[in-house]
Amino acid sequence: MTISEQLYTRAQQHIPGGVNSPVRAFTGVGGTPVFIKSANGAYFTSADDKQYLDYVGSWGPMILGHNHPAVLDAVIDAAKRGLSYGAPTEIEAEMAEKICELIPSIEMVRMVNSGTEATMSAIRLARGYTGKDKIIKFEGCYHGHADCLLVKAGSGALTLGEPTSPGVPADFAKHTLTADFNDLDSVEALLKANKDDVACIIVEPIAGNMNCIPPVEGFLQGLRQLCDQYGAVLIFDEVMSGFRMGIDGAQGYYKVQPDLTTLGKVIGGGMPVGAFGGKKTIMEHMAPVGPVYQAGTLSGNPVAMAAGLAALNELSQPGFYEPLFAYTEALVQGMRDIAEQKGIPFTTNHVGSMFGFFFNDAETVTSYKQVTNGDMDRFKRFYHAMLDEGVYLSPSAFEAGFVSASHGDKELKQTLEAFERALSK
Ligand code: PLP
Repeated sequence: MTISEQLYTRAQQHIPGGVNSPVRAFTGVGGTPVFIKSANGAYFTSADDKQYLDYVGSWGPMILGHNHPAVLDAVIDAAKRGLSYGAPTEIEAEMAEKICELIPSIEMVRMVNSGTEATMSAIRLARGYTGKDKIIKFEGCYHGHADCLLVKAGSGALTLGEPTSPGVPADFAKHTLTADFNDLDSVEALLKANKDDVACIIVEPIAGNMNCIPPVEGFLQGLRQLCDQYGAVLIFDEVMSGFRMGIDGAQGYYKVQPDLTTLGKVIGGGMPVGAFGGKKTIMEHMAPVGPVYQAGTLSGNPVAMAAGLAALNELSQPGFYEPLFAYTEALVQGMRDIAEQKGIPFTTNHVGSMFGFFFNDAETVTSYKQVTNGDMDRFKRFYHAMLDEGVYLSPSAFEAGFVSASHGDKELKQTLEAFERALSK
């Protein structure tokens, strides 16, 4: 028995499924999750002392690679001054200023402790601001696990939402309408059928929770226009995409300004952080200035703020993104070339430092339906072959991959060589 297997057996005794977040359990690929002991740069070391090249990066936050010295120093320095005060600090103002400076659509911001809190609060704010109850989300987009967001569409596009998890009352779910990503007609149909009732549209501007699906041309612009037309708040959930395709997020990359933005992952530098922000006229509806309630014992935690701010300062350095994007480009191109030589159906998507791949022969993958049509058996085989090679990819065909600034020529070569061997298995 490996040490990971022993630890997994032990963890299952007192933690449901042995994990504190379901996707870590390897349900999508089978086998035993790799237990991690330590990490540095682009690599981590397992409990069995095997080194893995990491393309998950804690599901996105580790854009600088693990243990970046600037982040680590900031954390240690802050921790020495106390772990939490529950009272305002200067670094919270500094963090808010930095976020507002980097993302122009954000005029005011509130810090929270996770992406889930960020989206849940942004939706409450949109509802409080508009006085409407219904929200529109997209099938395949994940926004955390708040009740109103764990909902999928019914059989027809215009039917009311059904919960995807027991424990979400149908009475809550009925306020969530689900449209198809990259399909403006499906959004307009919902808005027409629920004319004065839609508080907001929430979307991942680059869908990263159904693999990696960029928006088709005009999709985000169309959402902006529909929100203006129907008086709905446009929320970009940039918990994953934020700071991944440039310093101003997907909204800067695609040049579409939402009313509210949610952030997480990268802004915590590896610590538990989320944020939501946007137009001052909307944000001023938040307590204590406005009536919409939201709070947090550890929100704006000084150690987490120090980590996040140190990370954002690194990302703000001129030229930070170019090598990262060049790596991602070379990675997906290299994988496509190898698959083509071997005659294996294979498609890739990438934007900035996020990427995805599919075992299918579609020219482009733009929809949830196409993702679910991939060859899952091949994915599972391939996944474990890569793991054997020491390359750690997302253990699910429905998650994006992430490149960090610590990935360089050596890592690219290592990945493509492993990829070639893994495809042959
Ligand atoms: N929104 C998006 C786009 C996400 O990818 C995630 C998590 O993966 C969340 C929200 C939820 O964030 P958290 O897991 O920090 O609650």
